[in-house]
Amino acid sequence: MLPPTQPSLDSVSTIRDDGSRRYLFPADVSGRFTRARAWAALVLIAIYLLLPWIKIGGYPAVFLDVAERRFHFFGWTLAAQDLWLMFFLITGLGFSLFFVTALLGRVWCGWACPQTVFLDHVYRKIERWIEGDAVARRALDAAPWTTTKIGQRVAKHVAYLVVSAAIAHLFLAYFVSIPALWRMMRAAPVEHWGAFAFMAVFSGGLYFNFAWFREQLCIVICPYGRLQSVLIDDDSLVIGYDAQRGEPRGKMHRETCGAEGANQVLSERLPGDMGGTPMPRGTGVPPVGLNARSKPDLRPGAGSPNSAATGMAAIGSAALQRLGDCIACNRCVQVCPTGIDIRQGLQIECIGCAACIDACDEVMTRLHRPRGLVRYDSLRGLAGRATRWFRPRIALYGVLLAVGAAVATWAFSTVKPAYFSVTRMTGMPYVVTPDAIRNQFFVRLVNTRATATAFVVTTANATGARQMGFDAPVSVPPLGEEVRPLMLVQPRANYSGPFRFNVVVRDAAGTFELRREVEFLGPDVRLLQEDDHEKSRRP
Ligand code: SF4
Ligand code: SF4
Repeated sequence: MLPPTQPSLDSVSTIRDDGSRRYLFPADVSGRFTRARAWAALVLIAIYLLLPWIKIGGYPAVFLDVAERRFHFFGWTLAAQDLWLMFFLITGLGFSLFFVTALLGRVWCGWACPQTVFLDHVYRKIERWIEGDAVARRALDAAPWTTTKIGQRVAKHVAYLVVSAAIAHLFLAYFVSIPALWRMMRAAPVEHWGAFAFMAVFSGGLYFNFAWFREQLCIVICPYGRLQSVLIDDDSLVIGYDAQRGEPRGKMHRETCGAEGANQVLSERLPGDMGGTPMPRGTGVPPVGLNARSKPDLRPGAGSPNSAATGMAAIGSAALQRLGDCIACNRCVQVCPTGIDIRQGLQIECIGCAACIDACDEVMTRLHRPRGLVRYDSLRGLAGRATRWFRPRIALYGVLLAVGAAVATWAFSTVKPAYFSVTRMTGMPYVVTPDAIRNQFFVRLVNTRATATAFVVTTANATGARQMGFDAPVSVPPLGEEVRPLMLVQPRANYSGPFRFNVVVRDAAGTFELRREVEFLGPDVRLLQEDDHEKSRRP
């Protein structure tokens, strides 16, 4: 069985020298952040599971009814015409992302991203339940294909497939509702082949991602991971290693050092402990910057493995030295789901899961040392300086977020519970009768409320013209629509040429009023008068 390899800044931990994939077997960890994340995941998964079942105003709390072009959000219904509001939703999410990341780093990735939530709290739980802990899983992976191994692998992948299909089915329920989904599930696939194909592809994608691709999605594909290097700065909250306290790291003889005297011990460097380059306190600041692969971190205050090595050379072969709090146990590396060593500085692969904090806290507690050698802090804080929580970038993002929220609130307040359109009758701009000029329209009333509404349709600014149609309120069913003719008749005696008038729609209760300007068309007045004159001269 191959031992776990030490992460390096020169290559991605999950890629071997020959380019093949190296699978990770992150060890289990327990602690305050692990427990808190488990609760957060439970709440998020419960929300995902329950939203399609909870009804508000007769519809699921979140129901994206694409077929009917109606979108229900917690009792609020939007029609297809309201989709422009998505602009505010998307830009709002973007600004929130900027703001939260600048302030709290990758808190989204570690605590709320569906990839992390499902992988850490569902799929890895199943894996551990069937195959055992990290040591057992690594051993099983390296073991020959026996009946036991085949049985465990089949059980695990069947469970993965079932969970993937369940997540995908529930996702579809957000678009078709639970009853419709249930009907589809009991019918033959050919009766709804589109939905069936979607389910097959989506379930397969989830299975592929959570069973095999895993951390590669965060490392290779996720654009947010790529963006973090520009979104955070030295004052953003990240998970980091307190190198000033931890270095020079080294194994200590428990029998020769008590909790108090732990710093005066013989340094024993582990063979191959590439993360364990010792640095005496005060002789070099270890890496705390965001490291670029194969490139030294040249930012002020950020050290590098090379500077560490220089520091090591300065120490020479001195056997006795003052050790930091890091005992080079590698526990923080063993639990990392992306296979990095947080002691090498903040890296793009870090998803902020806080597993290394709990792992190190556990070690520190056993050694009777203060927790927090690996902790939530800013890069500035980890370097021993004061964190500036309020800074220009935060103010700018905050202002943009506030302005966006205000505009979005206004935009959402303009959403009306109904829409209507007025269309002129095709091929008939106007009709001239012996007594009048007539314009004919179709009025389409759309009720976006989840309750039936009685609409009253009138005309305004059409002096002297008579309205025909919509003599009584028209009842439109919930989320329904109604198309009715509307005629406007202008007596010839009153006609003085085309004019503009308003079609007014309000509900019978008078809670809203909508207006649309329409043009009344007719012949040229002079021609009409000549025609009248001609007719009057005829015997
Ligand atoms: S270094 Fe690894 S274990 Fe620590 S927070 Fe980042 S991803 Fe999680
Ligand atoms: S868990 Fe803590 S003590 Fe152990 S190697 Fe990591 S930082 Fe050092």
